[in-house]
Amino acid sequence: MADEPQYEMEELVNFISKDKDAIVAFYGGEPLLKDKIVKEMLYAIPAKRFVLQTNGFFIKRLHHHIHRLDSILISIDGRKEITDFYRCNGCYDAAMRALNYLKENNFKGEIIARMTASYKTDIYKDAKHLLQFFPYVHWQLDVVWSNLWDLNEFKKWAKESYMPGLKKLVKEWVDSLESKPLGIVPFMGIATRMFSSDATIPPCGAGSTAFAITPEGKILACPIAYEFKWNILGDFNGYKKIKIGEPCKSCEYYKICGGRCLFAYKERLWGEEGFNEICKVTKFLIDEIKKYEDKLEKHMEKIRYPPYNNTTEIIP
Ligand code: SF4
Repeated sequence: MADEPQYEMEELVNFISKDKDAIVAFYGGEPLLKDKIVKEMLYAIPAKRFVLQTNGFFIKRLHHHIHRLDSILISIDGRKEITDFYRCNGCYDAAMRALNYLKENNFKGEIIARMTASYKTDIYKDAKHLLQFFPYVHWQLDVVWSNLWDLNEFKKWAKESYMPGLKKLVKEWVDSLESKPLGIVPFMGIATRMFSSDATIPPCGAGSTAFAITPEGKILACPIAYEFKWNILGDFNGYKKIKIGEPCKSCEYYKICGGRCLFAYKERLWGEEGFNEICKVTKFLIDEIKKYEDKLEKHMEKIRYPPYNNTTEIIP
Protein backbone atom coordinates (compact mmCIF):
# COMPACT_ATOMS: atom_id res chain seq x y z
CA MET A 1 0.00 0.00 0.00
CA ALA A 2 1.30 3.46 -0.88
CA ASP A 3 1.98 5.74 2.07
CA GLU A 4 0.55 8.87 0.43
CA PRO A 5 -2.60 9.43 -1.64
CA GLN A 6 -2.17 8.41 -5.27
CA TYR A 7 -5.35 10.24 -6.28
CA GLU A 8 -5.99 13.97 -6.70
CA MET A 9 -7.53 15.77 -3.74
CA GLU A 10 -10.30 16.89 -6.08
CA GLU A 11 -11.38 13.28 -6.69
CA LEU A 12 -11.69 12.70 -2.97
CA VAL A 13 -13.54 15.97 -2.45
CA ASN A 14 -16.00 15.14 -5.24
CA PHE A 15 -16.58 11.68 -3.85
CA ILE A 16 -17.17 12.80 -0.27
CA SER A 17 -19.33 15.76 -1.24
CA LYS A 18 -21.99 13.28 -2.45
CA ASP A 19 -22.69 12.55 1.22
CA LYS A 20 -24.05 15.63 2.97
CA ASP A 21 -23.54 13.99 6.39
CA ALA A 22 -20.06 12.62 5.76
CA ILE A 23 -17.85 11.80 8.73
CA VAL A 24 -14.18 11.44 7.88
CA ALA A 25 -11.83 9.50 10.17
CA PHE A 26 -8.05 9.49 9.93
CA TYR A 27 -6.29 6.38 11.07
CA GLY A 28 -3.38 4.17 10.26
CA GLY A 29 -0.74 3.14 11.35
CA GLU A 30 -0.28 6.61 12.69
CA PRO A 31 -1.99 9.33 10.63
CA LEU A 32 0.06 12.15 12.15
CA LEU A 33 3.21 10.82 10.51
CA LYS A 34 1.59 12.53 7.52
CA ASP A 35 0.32 15.55 9.41
CA LYS A 36 0.58 17.87 6.38
CA ILE A 37 -1.90 15.73 4.45
CA VAL A 38 -4.23 15.49 7.45
CA LYS A 39 -4.18 19.29 7.85
CA GLU A 40 -4.85 19.82 4.16
CA MET A 41 -7.78 17.41 4.24
CA LEU A 42 -9.26 19.01 7.36
CA TYR A 43 -9.96 22.11 5.28
CA ALA A 44 -10.44 20.68 1.78
CA ILE A 45 -12.95 17.92 2.49
CA PRO A 46 -16.58 18.97 2.96
CA ALA A 47 -17.25 16.62 5.91
CA LYS A 48 -19.70 17.24 8.70
CA ARG A 49 -17.36 15.66 11.27
CA PHE A 50 -13.72 14.70 11.56
CA VAL A 51 -12.33 11.91 13.74
CA LEU A 52 -8.71 11.06 14.49
CA GLN A 53 -7.21 7.86 15.88
CA THR A 54 -3.69 8.48 17.11
CA ASN A 55 -1.03 7.09 19.42
CA GLY A 56 -0.49 10.66 20.63
CA PHE A 57 3.23 10.95 19.85
CA PHE A 58 2.81 13.73 17.29
CA ILE A 59 -0.37 15.46 18.43
CA LYS A 60 1.43 18.81 18.77
CA ARG A 61 2.03 18.82 15.02
CA LEU A 62 -1.66 19.68 14.64
CA HIS A 63 -1.36 22.91 16.67
CA HIS A 64 -4.65 24.84 16.58
CA HIS A 65 -5.96 22.50 13.86
CA ILE A 66 -7.01 20.13 16.67
CA HIS A 67 -10.13 22.28 16.87
CA ARG A 68 -11.23 21.08 13.42
CA LEU A 69 -11.66 17.61 14.93
CA ASP A 70 -14.82 16.34 16.63
CA SER A 71 -13.45 13.15 18.20
CA ILE A 72 -9.92 12.10 19.04
CA LEU A 73 -9.23 8.50 20.01
CA ILE A 74 -5.90 8.00 21.76
CA SER A 75 -4.39 4.51 21.81
CA ILE A 76 -3.65 3.49 25.39
CA ASP A 77 -4.34 0.09 26.91
CA GLY A 78 -4.79 0.88 30.60
CA ARG A 79 -2.12 1.05 33.28
CA LYS A 80 1.37 2.14 32.22
CA GLU A 81 2.95 -1.32 32.50
CA ILE A 82 0.17 -2.87 30.40
CA THR A 83 0.26 -0.19 27.68
CA ASP A 84 4.05 -0.19 27.43
CA PHE A 85 4.14 -3.99 27.38
CA TYR A 86 1.72 -4.26 24.44
CA ARG A 87 3.05 -1.27 22.51
CA CYS A 88 6.48 0.10 23.46
CA ASN A 89 8.23 1.86 26.29
CA GLY A 90 7.05 5.44 26.37
CA CYS A 91 3.68 4.78 24.69
CA TYR A 92 1.72 5.37 27.87
CA ASP A 93 3.51 8.66 28.55
CA ALA A 94 3.00 9.80 24.95
CA ALA A 95 -0.73 9.09 25.18
CA MET A 96 -1.00 10.95 28.48
CA ARG A 97 0.98 13.89 27.10
CA ALA A 98 -1.44 14.04 24.17
CA LEU A 99 -4.41 13.99 26.53
CA ASN A 100 -2.93 16.84 28.58
CA TYR A 101 -2.12 18.80 25.43
CA LEU A 102 -5.76 18.56 24.33
CA LYS A 103 -7.00 19.61 27.77
CA GLU A 104 -4.55 22.50 28.05
CA ASN A 105 -5.58 23.72 24.62
CA ASN A 106 -9.23 23.59 25.52
CA PHE A 107 -10.19 20.94 22.99
CA LYS A 108 -13.97 20.84 22.99
CA GLY A 109 -14.55 17.57 21.14
CA GLU A 110 -14.68 14.03 22.49
CA ILE A 111 -11.52 12.42 23.82
CA ILE A 112 -11.62 8.64 23.98
CA ALA A 113 -9.05 6.26 25.43
CA ARG A 114 -8.88 3.51 22.84
CA MET A 115 -7.72 0.26 24.44
CA THR A 116 -6.80 -3.15 23.12
CA ALA A 117 -7.64 -5.87 25.64
CA SER A 118 -5.33 -8.88 25.52
CA TYR A 119 -3.89 -11.50 27.86
CA LYS A 120 -2.31 -9.12 30.38
CA THR A 121 -5.39 -6.91 30.60
CA ASP A 122 -7.43 -6.77 33.77
CA ILE A 123 -10.44 -5.03 32.25
CA TYR A 124 -11.71 -3.76 35.57
CA LYS A 125 -8.37 -2.30 36.69
CA ASP A 126 -7.33 -1.01 33.27
CA ALA A 127 -10.61 0.65 32.33
CA LYS A 128 -10.96 2.16 35.82
CA HIS A 129 -7.42 3.46 35.64
CA LEU A 130 -8.12 5.30 32.38
CA LEU A 131 -11.46 6.66 33.56
CA GLN A 132 -9.55 8.73 36.12
CA PHE A 133 -8.13 10.77 33.25
CA PHE A 134 -10.24 10.25 30.13
CA PRO A 135 -13.93 11.15 29.77
CA TYR A 136 -14.52 8.04 27.62
CA VAL A 137 -12.95 4.61 27.45
CA HIS A 138 -13.45 2.09 24.67
CA TRP A 139 -11.78 -1.25 24.04
CA GLN A 140 -11.53 -3.95 21.43
CA LEU A 141 -10.58 -7.54 22.15
CA ASP A 142 -7.28 -8.72 20.74
CA VAL A 143 -8.80 -11.80 19.11
CA VAL A 144 -8.79 -13.67 15.80
CA TRP A 145 -5.79 -11.91 14.22
CA SER A 146 -3.75 -11.72 17.42
CA ASN A 147 -0.14 -12.79 17.50
CA LEU A 148 0.03 -12.58 21.31
CA TRP A 149 -2.06 -15.60 22.28
CA ASP A 150 -4.22 -18.43 20.98
CA LEU A 151 -7.79 -19.55 21.45
CA ASN A 152 -7.13 -21.68 24.54
CA GLU A 153 -5.39 -18.84 26.32
CA PHE A 154 -8.24 -16.51 25.36
CA LYS A 155 -10.81 -18.95 26.75
CA LYS A 156 -8.98 -19.18 30.08
CA TRP A 157 -8.56 -15.39 30.34
CA ALA A 158 -12.20 -14.76 29.40
CA LYS A 159 -13.44 -17.12 32.10
CA GLU A 160 -11.02 -16.23 34.89
CA SER A 161 -10.37 -12.55 34.31
CA TYR A 162 -12.42 -10.80 31.63
CA MET A 163 -15.96 -11.90 32.38
CA PRO A 164 -15.66 -11.44 36.18
CA GLY A 165 -14.10 -8.01 35.50
CA LEU A 166 -16.94 -7.05 33.15
CA LYS A 167 -19.53 -8.05 35.71
CA LYS A 168 -17.95 -5.80 38.33
CA LEU A 169 -17.52 -2.94 35.88
CA VAL A 170 -21.12 -3.11 34.61
CA LYS A 171 -22.37 -2.98 38.21
CA GLU A 172 -20.24 0.11 38.96
CA TRP A 173 -21.31 1.74 35.72
CA VAL A 174 -24.98 1.21 36.50
CA ASP A 175 -24.45 2.61 40.02
CA SER A 176 -22.86 5.71 38.47
CA LEU A 177 -25.96 6.48 36.37
CA GLU A 178 -27.73 8.28 39.21
CA SER A 179 -24.98 10.87 39.44
CA LYS A 180 -22.37 11.13 36.67
CA PRO A 181 -22.31 8.10 34.35
CA LEU A 182 -18.88 6.58 33.79
CA GLY A 183 -18.01 7.05 30.12
CA ILE A 184 -17.67 3.37 29.23
CA VAL A 185 -18.35 3.28 25.50
CA PRO A 186 -19.20 -0.43 25.02
CA PHE A 187 -21.75 -0.30 27.84
CA MET A 188 -23.35 2.93 26.65
CA GLY A 189 -23.41 1.69 23.05
CA ILE A 190 -24.95 -1.67 23.96
CA ALA A 191 -27.59 -0.01 26.14
CA THR A 192 -28.43 2.35 23.28
CA ARG A 193 -28.75 -0.54 20.82
CA MET A 194 -31.02 -2.35 23.27
CA PHE A 195 -33.58 0.40 22.83
CA SER A 196 -33.13 1.12 19.12
CA SER A 197 -35.01 -0.76 16.44
CA ASP A 198 -32.74 -0.81 13.39
CA ALA A 199 -29.43 -2.01 14.77
CA THR A 200 -28.77 -4.86 12.31
CA ILE A 201 -25.37 -3.98 10.91
CA PRO A 202 -21.99 -4.20 12.66
CA PRO A 203 -21.88 -1.21 15.01
CA CYS A 204 -18.81 0.20 13.26
CA GLY A 205 -20.87 0.27 10.03
CA ALA A 206 -18.12 -1.49 8.02
CA GLY A 207 -19.34 -2.25 4.52
CA SER A 208 -22.82 -0.81 5.15
CA THR A 209 -22.56 2.79 6.26
CA ALA A 210 -18.80 3.16 6.74
CA PHE A 211 -16.05 2.64 4.19
CA ALA A 212 -12.30 3.04 4.10
CA ILE A 213 -10.45 4.74 1.26
CA THR A 214 -6.94 3.46 0.56
CA PRO A 215 -4.15 5.75 -0.63
CA GLU A 216 -4.71 4.18 -4.08
CA GLY A 217 -8.35 5.29 -4.07
CA LYS A 218 -9.86 1.84 -3.51
CA ILE A 219 -12.99 1.60 -1.39
CA LEU A 220 -12.81 -1.02 1.35
CA ALA A 221 -15.37 -2.27 3.84
CA CYS A 222 -12.91 -2.71 6.70
CA PRO A 223 -9.72 -0.68 6.96
CA ILE A 224 -7.68 -3.39 8.68
CA ALA A 225 -8.18 -6.04 6.00
CA TYR A 226 -6.87 -4.35 2.89
CA GLU A 227 -5.34 -7.49 1.39
CA PHE A 228 -8.58 -9.53 1.40
CA LYS A 229 -10.53 -9.74 -1.85
CA TRP A 230 -14.00 -9.73 -0.27
CA ASN A 231 -13.10 -6.44 1.37
CA ILE A 232 -12.45 -4.48 -1.84
CA LEU A 233 -15.80 -2.97 -2.75
CA GLY A 234 -14.92 -0.56 -5.57
CA ASP A 235 -13.42 2.87 -6.18
CA PHE A 236 -14.46 6.53 -6.56
CA ASN A 237 -16.59 5.58 -9.59
CA GLY A 238 -18.78 3.19 -7.65
CA TYR A 239 -18.81 0.54 -4.95
CA LYS A 240 -21.02 -2.20 -3.60
CA LYS A 241 -22.02 -2.91 -0.01
CA ILE A 242 -21.43 -6.06 2.01
CA LYS A 243 -23.68 -7.71 4.55
CA ILE A 244 -23.47 -10.05 7.51
CA GLY A 245 -25.35 -13.35 7.00
CA GLU A 246 -25.78 -16.52 9.04
CA PRO A 247 -25.38 -17.49 11.81
CA CYS A 248 -25.73 -13.88 12.97
CA LYS A 249 -29.01 -13.13 11.18
CA SER A 250 -30.76 -15.87 13.14
CA CYS A 251 -28.99 -15.08 16.41
CA GLU A 252 -31.17 -13.62 19.12
CA TYR A 253 -28.42 -11.11 19.97
CA TYR A 254 -28.12 -9.81 16.41
CA LYS A 255 -30.11 -6.65 16.94
CA ILE A 256 -27.64 -5.55 19.59
CA CYS A 257 -24.45 -7.25 18.46
CA GLY A 258 -24.92 -6.64 14.72
CA GLY A 259 -22.47 -9.44 13.95
CA ARG A 260 -19.84 -7.67 16.07
CA CYS A 261 -17.01 -7.39 13.55
CA LEU A 262 -17.14 -7.91 9.78
CA PHE A 263 -13.50 -9.02 9.59
CA ALA A 264 -13.91 -11.64 12.33
CA TYR A 265 -17.15 -12.78 10.69
CA LYS A 266 -15.48 -13.25 7.31
CA GLU A 267 -12.07 -14.51 8.36
CA ARG A 268 -12.54 -17.07 11.09
CA LEU A 269 -8.86 -17.37 11.83
CA TRP A 270 -9.62 -19.08 15.14
CA GLY A 271 -12.11 -21.43 13.40
CA GLU A 272 -15.77 -21.96 14.22
CA GLU A 273 -14.86 -22.70 17.81
CA GLY A 274 -13.06 -19.38 18.11
CA PHE A 275 -16.01 -17.55 16.56
CA ASN A 276 -18.34 -19.15 19.10
CA GLU A 277 -16.05 -18.43 22.05
CA ILE A 278 -16.00 -14.72 21.16
CA CYS A 279 -19.80 -14.83 20.80
CA LYS A 280 -20.02 -16.28 24.32
CA VAL A 281 -18.21 -13.25 25.69
CA THR A 282 -20.37 -10.87 23.65
CA LYS A 283 -23.57 -12.54 24.85
CA PHE A 284 -22.33 -12.49 28.43
CA LEU A 285 -21.75 -8.74 28.29
CA ILE A 286 -25.11 -8.04 26.67
CA ASP A 287 -26.87 -10.20 29.29
CA GLU A 288 -25.06 -8.42 32.13
CA ILE A 289 -26.21 -5.05 30.80
CA LYS A 290 -29.74 -6.32 30.13
CA LYS A 291 -30.12 -7.21 33.80
CA TYR A 292 -30.45 -3.48 34.47
CA GLU A 293 -32.85 -2.70 31.63
CA ASP A 294 -35.35 -0.70 33.72
CA LYS A 295 -32.69 1.51 35.22
CA LEU A 296 -31.04 2.03 31.85
CA GLU A 297 -34.28 3.09 30.22
CA LYS A 298 -34.76 5.67 32.95
CA HIS A 299 -31.32 7.16 32.31
CA MET A 300 -31.19 6.68 28.53
CA GLU A 301 -30.86 10.39 27.77
CA LYS A 302 -27.62 10.48 29.78
CA ILE A 303 -26.04 7.44 28.17
CA ARG A 304 -27.16 7.43 24.52
CA TYR A 305 -24.05 6.69 22.46
CA PRO A 306 -22.38 7.25 20.05
CA PRO A 307 -23.66 10.65 18.94
CA TYR A 308 -22.33 9.84 15.43
CA ASN A 309 -20.07 7.16 14.01
CA ASN A 310 -16.85 8.08 15.79
CA THR A 311 -15.15 4.72 14.90
CA THR A 312 -15.81 3.12 18.26
CA GLU A 313 -16.94 -0.42 17.41
CA ILE A 314 -19.23 -0.67 20.47
CA ILE A 315 -19.06 -4.46 20.81
CA PRO A 316 -15.56 -5.17 22.17
S1 SF4 B 1 -23.32 -13.04 19.14
FE1 SF4 B 1 -22.13 -14.05 17.54
S2 SF4 B 1 -23.64 -15.10 16.23
FE2 SF4 B 1 -24.74 -13.61 17.51
S3 SF4 B 1 -24.85 -11.77 16.19
FE3 SF4 B 1 -23.03 -11.58 17.49
S4 SF4 B 1 -21.31 -12.37 16.25
FE4 SF4 B 1 -23.24 -13.10 15.32
